[in-house]
Amino acid sequence: SASPLGNSVIPIVNKLQDIFAQLGSQSTIELPQVAVVGSQSSGKSSVLEALVGRDFLPRGSEICTRRPLVLQLLQTKRNADGTDEEYGEFLHVPGKRFYDFSEIRREIQAETEREAGGNKGVTDKQIRLKIFSPNVLDITLVDLPGITKVPVGDQPSDIEARIRTMIMSYIKIPTCLILAVTAANSDLANSDALQIAGNADPDGLRTIGVITKLDIMDRGTDACNLLLGKVIPLRLGYVGVVNRSQEDIMMNRSIKDALVAEEKFFRSRPVYNGLADRCGVPQLAKKLNQILVQHIKAVLPGLKSRISSTLVTVAKEHASYGEITESKAGQGALLLNILSKYSEAFSTMVEGKNEEMSTT
Ligand code: GDP
Ligand code: MG
Repeated sequence: SASPLGNSVIPIVNKLQDIFAQLGSQSTIELPQVAVVGSQSSGKSSVLEALVGRDFLPRGSEICTRRPLVLQLLQTKRNADGTDEEYGEFLHVPGKRFYDFSEIRREIQAETEREAGGNKGVTDKQIRLKIFSPNVLDITLVDLPGITKVPVGDQPSDIEARIRTMIMSYIKIPTCLILAVTAANSDLANSDALQIAGNADPDGLRTIGVITKLDIMDRGTDACNLLLGKVIPLRLGYVGVVNRSQEDIMMNRSIKDALVAEEKFFRSRPVYNGLADRCGVPQLAKKLNQILVQHIKAVLPGLKSRISSTLVTVAKEHASYGEITESKAGQGALLLNILSKYSEAFSTMVEGKNEEMSTT
């Protein structure tokens, strides 16, 4: 099954890609990057992993993200017999396919140590990993080191400033979507995530607030005011999530089980009943999907005009050859027609008349 992220976008992108492939064109939709920011141990890697739906990121109290991990998801075709083949490839290990996702995690850790040392060092040298799978959409996710204040181990005295500069270099890109992650058991008003996201995106047009660790808040407190934006308003709003705890990681609890547990958590807490659209990883994925859909809608007219001009070129070429029955221009016109109809249906969908787009 598809990863939580991309459930509703995959069919749209697939169709467009099919159209372009038939036109013999490489051009397709480039989706914005998504980066996670926040304090160390706020749950950034856990959130990314839950969105992808696979276990492969180093996470936990001891092993944290110390190099930017640029994770490129690439959609592949399903095997003819219906089985899925999912594997990873690292830029620094050319030609090797990692089918075992726990081996991917070990390689990320090993490669982190190669460059940043074994003693808490942080570097801005990227690790680049591609994940090939029929269940993902073509998107790039960036897992970033967390903001720390007090240097430990091999960290230089200006570690905080260095990490902030590194994070900014990713999130200042105007198309980058920012997942600003804050743990529910910390003070949102002092959130590093919201502070740095606010620097990069002052109008809050591309920042989603993510509140983690709802399960370990102080007894008698809840995250309702945070999720409602009453503490710090955020234009795109907040989603609260419950990821796996350190104990779950040690017990090898699967993502699937964690999602079930998360759902049960929210169901069993009456305070969250009225906030269902702001609770849970699936809702976060839905929110991201909606933003991606808006993005696709915004770039469609440009794609259409690119096809039109391709058509003009092909028609001219055709005219210079004289009559051929199965003309490229004729095929192109047909495809342009399909694309136009498609983008109309698409606009209708985005305007909210029907949420899920039919895949047939
Ligand atoms: P990062 O440093 O921001 O990438 O944080 P990680 O994803 O590595 O998580 C740090 C620690 O917090 C790990 O031990 C996780 O198991 C734990 N953690 C993350 N999210 C949650 C959550 O929602 N609930 C609980 N109980 N623990 C969490
Ligand atoms: Mg991390």
